[in-house]
Amino acid sequence: MERQSKIDISGVNERTVDFVLARRALLRAFGRGEVLKTEICDAQPELMRAALNLGKPKSSICPICRDTKLVSVYFAFGPKLPAHGRCLNSESEIDSILSRHIDAKVYEVEVCLNCKWNHLDRLLAPFVFGEESA
Ligand SMILES: [Zn+2]
Repeated sequence: MERQSKIDISGVNERTVDFVLARRALLRAFGRGEVLKTEICDAQPELMRAALNLGKPKSSICPICRDTKLVSVYFAFGPKLPAHGRCLNSESEIDSILSRHIDAKVYEVEVCLNCKWNHLDRLLAPFVFGEESA
C-alpha cells in the first residue's frame, strides 16, 4: 500500500477514539477520587523539557489544574529510533522521519506545563504499516 506523504495532524481515526475514551475514563476516575493526582500528573523531566521547548499550544485548558493551556508534543518510536522516542516539532519533521523510518510510529502527547498532567492523545502515523494496518 502506498504511504501517505503528508501527515494530517488534524485527523481523527479509530485509535484516536480509543485514546479519547481512555482519557475520559481516567478523568472520571480522578473526579471520583479513585486516582490520585500524583498518578496522572507525572510527566517525566524529559517530557516536561520537550513540552516546554517544543510543545505546540492547544486551545484546551488542563483538565486537572484548570489553570494552564495544554501543549502537544510529538514523539516518533521505531526500531532504529532512540528507545525513549524522538521528539518532533513540526509536520515537516514528522514527514521527514516517516520517510526515513518506514516502521516508525508517531504519537501526540498532551502535557500541562503547570501540573505535569500528560496523556497520550493520538497515534498520528502510520495507519498503513505493521500492526496498525491489520
Ligand atoms: Zn494542569
